[in-house]
Amino acid sequence: MGYKFLKLASSQYRNGGVRIIARQYSTTHDADLVVIGAGPGGYVAAIKAAQMGMKVVSVEKEASLGGTCLNVGCIPSKALLHNSHLYHMAKHDFKHRGIEVGNVSFDFKAMMDYKVKAVKGLTGGIGMLFQKNKVQLIRGVGTLVAPNKVEVKGEKGVETVNTKNIILATGSEVTPFPGVQIDEKQIISSTGALSLSSVPKKMLVIGAGVIGLELGSVYQRLGADVTAIEFLTSIGGVGIDGEVAKTLQKILTKQGLKFKLGTKVSGISKAGSVIKVDVEAAQGGGKETLECDVVLLSIGRRPYTKDLGLEKVGIALDDRGRVPVNNKFQTTVPGIYAIGDIIHGPMLAHKAEDEGIVCVEGIKGMPVHFNYDAIPSVIYTSPEVGWVGKTEEDLKKEGKAYKVGKFPFVANSRAKTNSETDGFVKVLSDKTTDIILGTHIIGPGGGELINEAVLAQEYGASAEDVARVCHAHPTCAEALREANMAAYIGKPINF
Ligand SMILES: Cc1cc2nc3c(=O)[nH]c(=O)nc-3n(C[C@H](O)[C@H](O)[C@H](O)COP(=O)(O)OP(=O)(O)OC[C@H]3O[C@@H](n4cnc5c(N)ncnc54)[C@H](O)[C@@H]3O)c2cc1C
Repeated sequence: MGYKFLKLASSQYRNGGVRIIARQYSTTHDADLVVIGAGPGGYVAAIKAAQMGMKVVSVEKEASLGGTCLNVGCIPSKALLHNSHLYHMAKHDFKHRGIEVGNVSFDFKAMMDYKVKAVKGLTGGIGMLFQKNKVQLIRGVGTLVAPNKVEVKGEKGVETVNTKNIILATGSEVTPFPGVQIDEKQIISSTGALSLSSVPKKMLVIGAGVIGLELGSVYQRLGADVTAIEFLTSIGGVGIDGEVAKTLQKILTKQGLKFKLGTKVSGISKAGSVIKVDVEAAQGGGKETLECDVVLLSIGRRPYTKDLGLEKVGIALDDRGRVPVNNKFQTTVPGIYAIGDIIHGPMLAHKAEDEGIVCVEGIKGMPVHFNYDAIPSVIYTSPEVGWVGKTEEDLKKEGKAYKVGKFPFVANSRAKTNSETDGFVKVLSDKTTDIILGTHIIGPGGGELINEAVLAQEYGASAEDVARVCHAHPTCAEALREANMAAYIGKPINF
């Protein structure tokens, strides 16, 4: 590590009669790998590389490590979803189970404080993992200045790292709504929705994808009148099976969430404390203006590559603003790789993490294999939705002959005992080979249960394979086994 004098800052100040000259230094480091961005993609890649013997520098511009996922994504949203669900259960469900809790109420600030504590615990943990694995953290904005050189502008000045390899893992940001200024108080993104100071009376959610449904559910459970407006004619976003989407909409509607599907938002304006949202039928006609006190814009996210200096090294973005990479996560510049939300594929934390691991293994000369057909998706509503692989719509489009095995939770002993009978498991398998092509779950613990289906699909299992595996009783996982039985032999046992 060499220290190079950069400049004397103009500010000079006195401390106890001693004149202190504030100096900014330029520091130079050498590394095997620099990872820009310490979200789930970047921090996992950094740790894996250090474990494989590389000298690793992680560069992060935010004070808190963990990226979108830990700070303003997966973790805070799940903290609010879990606790709002418990509140909803205590208020509307406990009584019929014989549990008396008197007048149930909630303290919104305490709920938010709980969320902050959950986030702090996990983000702090990454710092400790970095120390344990000897990953050097440099705080500041990382910019590529040459194919083997990264400059980091931070509070301490400019630091330069000469490195053999670079992984870009700078993630994504909220897609703006054209012409609308987000103030994170009344016109909010998911980030604002995770930190409101009170529960709105009336909330409009623009976009009924995963994030809109999850955060809409939180506020609906806490008493807000929530309507989700969606351009498409179904909910749940990209990749959800049509039958599951319809079932989810029915269940959420029963819970009190309202939907306006096939509807386009043409304008959003503020009139004092009221937000006016102009909508019209997506196919034209049927204009109206809706009012609310908070509007949540959840129309998607886009890759974040600002300040990265891609142009300096000659990396051009694709038509969707993503960094193009090959199947080894190599960009067009040798030695520079990219993973996570800034590249192709679903914007999911576990996808970013896994890409980080195999990308690092590739740098070390190991084979790189990534199966995009075996990445699970989960919607953490109640009930949860989990899926992996192809939908029926996909298979019809591909003209593939397939079998369907379905099993409803109303016939599953554990779900019935727990009064959690909404939903089903649906397995799609190849008509000739019986190989599982997709699994779709809507029901209790669907987000956990889907992992068994992912394991089966990753191992190329047939429906018969899963149907013949002994499952513990009574568990909701038995519904997955029975759905595989139905796909394989045409009939489950218990339905
Ligand atoms: C509300 C919400 C809920 C979500 N829930 C889920 C969920 O339940 N499950 C799931 O799988 N996914 C979920 N996601 C998506 C998930 O958060 C992302 O897919 C994931 O965080 C992507 O990881 P990443 O490492 O690619 O990028 P990010 O997590 O976005 O991290 C990128 C990091 O790079 C840093 N950075 C950017 N540019 C620079 C630079 N030039 N120099 C230094 N640092 C830089 C950023 O500060 C950030 O820390 C959710 C997202 C949102 C918004």
